[in-house]
Amino acid sequence: MTREPNFLESVSRNFDKAAGLTDLPQGLLAQIKACNSVYQMRFPVRMGKDYKVIEAYRVQHSHHRLPTKGGIRYSQKVNQEEVMALASLMTYKCAIVDVPFGGAKGGVKISPREHTAAQLQKITRRYTAELVRKNFIGPGIDVPAPDYGTGPREMAWILDTYMTFKGGDIDAAGCVTGKPVSQHGIAGRTEATGRGVYYSIREAMSHADDMKAIGLTTGMEGKTMAIQGMGNVGHYTAMISQKEGGVKIICVAEYEGAIYNKDGIDFEKLVKHRKKTKSILDFPGATNMKSRKDVLTVECDILVPAALEGQIYKGNAKQVKAKIIAEAANGPITADAEDILLKKDIMIIPDMYCNAGGVTVSYFEWLKNLSHMRFGRMEKRFDQAKYMDIIAMVEKTTGKSIGKKEKDFLTHGADEVDLVRSGLEETMVMAYDQIRTIKKRKKGVEDLRSAAFISALNKISSDYLSLGIFP
Ligand code: NAD
Repeated sequence: MTREPNFLESVSRNFDKAAGLTDLPQGLLAQIKACNSVYQMRFPVRMGKDYKVIEAYRVQHSHHRLPTKGGIRYSQKVNQEEVMALASLMTYKCAIVDVPFGGAKGGVKISPREHTAAQLQKITRRYTAELVRKNFIGPGIDVPAPDYGTGPREMAWILDTYMTFKGGDIDAAGCVTGKPVSQHGIAGRTEATGRGVYYSIREAMSHADDMKAIGLTTGMEGKTMAIQGMGNVGHYTAMISQKEGGVKIICVAEYEGAIYNKDGIDFEKLVKHRKKTKSILDFPGATNMKSRKDVLTVECDILVPAALEGQIYKGNAKQVKAKIIAEAANGPITADAEDILLKKDIMIIPDMYCNAGGVTVSYFEWLKNLSHMRFGRMEKRFDQAKYMDIIAMVEKTTGKSIGKKEKDFLTHGADEVDLVRSGLEETMVMAYDQIRTIKKRKKGVEDLRSAAFISALNKISSDYLSLGIFP
């Protein structure tokens, strides 16, 4: 039996499959595919009486647009090829959602749960110092963000360390995104990836012919969902899909196991239960499943892997019963498994589109940092005053008065979070439309991942071609 492709090999195979459907020059495709810079580092961090040597990476996949952009992962499984795969996905992701960055990714080979907050702070600050020393971070160079195992807290440490070295840089706050709102962050960033996943599913499920082909009706309301991982992405995908999309979450998996309830799991209550008991298991009304992996093969309409890569592989792909898989995580399906799933007519919403909400709102945060002003500050009151005038005119003309509650709703000027959500929704809707159009119209394109790749390749290649580098 031949070995199953690893994450980087899967990305490469998917790239080649899509590239083969274009007529772009081979040299140009090779340039787009290659990782431009790989920085591998080892640095010591004192832990108690000892020193621990930390293995870490920063990969800038493509410099066709600057700065480069991509999250930082803290995981014991981090290795160079994984970070290269993640960085290359970032390039395609940014192109798909028209975010003007090249792709990058960082990885630190540690298990966050085995370290104290003080140790994590030391590691994060030292990692940032290494990036500063090699000119691998900066608002116009390379801008990290959160990924698996990191969040706003780590981003605040990165900013603070960067400022220590580059205090005079007026745009320093734009050196990293996903920061706490109080530390130059933006409202709506924490939920952004999960909210984007929700929009991606909503868009995919809005086309009657596409849904008919997989035996579903349009719309998310009442559809069943299974979700793997309750971290940043899984949490908000589940919460928003349940509250705004009306889905029924029937199965949830976390590190400690998986639970199932065919009548639905109240996700908000599950979060409280896990906080109290430190586990999702024994949640009232639900049954504990044998293994946390069972979430992947449960019968449901929408499966959302939101943990790590390689979860659906040759060995379990045949047992997958979902009709739609929304790749909230990066690379959750191996290339071999994908072949099996596509033969089963399962719709796969590909990672590089599905989870692009995070980088989209990171882009808004970066723009906010460079403009030194929060979104909505200039126009909110102006808009409110205009809406009040319109209401007053309607009341005068009709002789009827509008209730206070309705008036407040109608005259509300946009806050930062309203604008961020609006920009994110617009981005996800537009990008899906482009991908779907390619799938429908381009000969030989049979799946959404190939279509998404082609959307990215078209945009990136036109950047290179307009430079006159390639004939
Ligand atoms: P996170 O660290 O916040 O959460 C991941 C969760 O998955 C953790 O709670 C962990 O316990 C759980 N988990 C790990 N292995 C599991 C398993 N086998 N079964 C069930 N649960 C498991 O990470 P995140 O930021 O939510 O990232 C998750 C995925 O989404 C990653 O692939 C990441 O690259 C991708 N992603 C994240 C962002 C972002 O903005 N954070 C953006 C785009 C893509």
